[in-house]
Amino acid sequence: MNIVLFGAPGAGKGTQSALIVEKLGMVQISTGDLFRAAIKNKTELGKQAQAFMDKGELVPDSVTIQMVDEVLVNLKSKSFILDGFPRTQAQAEGLGKILKQRGLEIGKAIFLEVPKEELLGRLTGRRVCKACGAVYHVQTKPAKVDGVCDNCGGEVVQRNDDKVDVIATRLKTYEDNTLPLRSYYKEQGKYVELNGAQDSDKVFSALKTVVQGG
Ligand SMILES: [Zn+2]
Repeated sequence: MNIVLFGAPGAGKGTQSALIVEKLGMVQISTGDLFRAAIKNKTELGKQAQAFMDKGELVPDSVTIQMVDEVLVNLKSKSFILDGFPRTQAQAEGLGKILKQRGLEIGKAIFLEVPKEELLGRLTGRRVCKACGAVYHVQTKPAKVDGVCDNCGGEVVQRNDDKVDVIATRLKTYEDNTLPLRSYYKEQGKYVELNGAQDSDKVFSALKTVVQGG
């Protein structure tokens, strides 16, 4: 079954995507990765995307969807998980069209749900080493000496991106953006909500049940 996985920042989407790829052998289609690869390899679509980005404009849906389509051609009947796409209802509809042309479809759109307070705790507790980039967390993975990196002795700080106001805004944006997508996939009978606040192995086990059609 092909799926789209949604989750707020900090909901564990990255961890779960990686597990799905590793344990279920599915192909991860991440539009962020597609963009980076296309631009690096200077493909035709990469050049088009770059031109929009150079002008400070958003890459149009048509370009993104063609990039996804190029991956679909090479799937060889493997199931896929979409990550970071679609972000709007228009993209979801465009995606539906190209999938249909290839005789494919999204089986389920899975939303990892984590209460906002928990997300704030997870995200605002992050600390990063300024020198080597090692990541710590004040509750779950503190540095042995407060403010000092275990690896390199560098200074461990909170990035501005991880401060509470910035995080709260990101979470609000995620909620606003996903609202129409929730309705869209509900109408199609493909909507699934999973409790993302559990241990990650429990989340994965629930995901696996959905993906395997249980
Ligand atoms: Zn360090």
